[in-house]
Amino acid sequence: MKVKTLVCNCKGLDPFRHADMNTLAFEIESELDVAYAAAHPQLCAEGGIQVLEDVLRAAEDDPDTYVMVCACAEDTQKNLFKKAFRRTGFDEKHFVPLDVRNTTNDGILDRIRARLAEIADPTKPRH
Ligand code: SF4
Repeated sequence: MKVKTLVCNCKGLDPFRHADMNTLAFEIESELDVAYAAAHPQLCAEGGIQVLEDVLRAAEDDPDTYVMVCACAEDTQKNLFKKAFRRTGFDEKHFVPLDVRNTTNDGILDRIRARLAEIADPTKPRH
């Protein structure tokens, strides 16, 4: 299993003010078992969507790859990124939206860690 991680800073809006986006991607790569982590200032804007589509396209034919997006609420992400899924052949089941609002880098690392464990063992209930 390979997990590519994108982190959104939501233009530094209030729910993201506890996180340090200058260090977060490095901390994710250092502490967690992910292929890579990259931060973007606004993933649902034009440039961000292009980045996301590039990542999704690169993973289209790789059933081993998951794309985790650390950003706003999970349902919001699914709506915001609907077109990106339609424009690529990425298997939506391998998209992992994660709500990382209102917490620090350590809190975000904990949330990612928990989701990685759930992906690795889908029989475990989500918390
Ligand atoms: S994807 Fe979500 S967290 Fe990122 S800029 Fe858009 S609304 Fe904000």
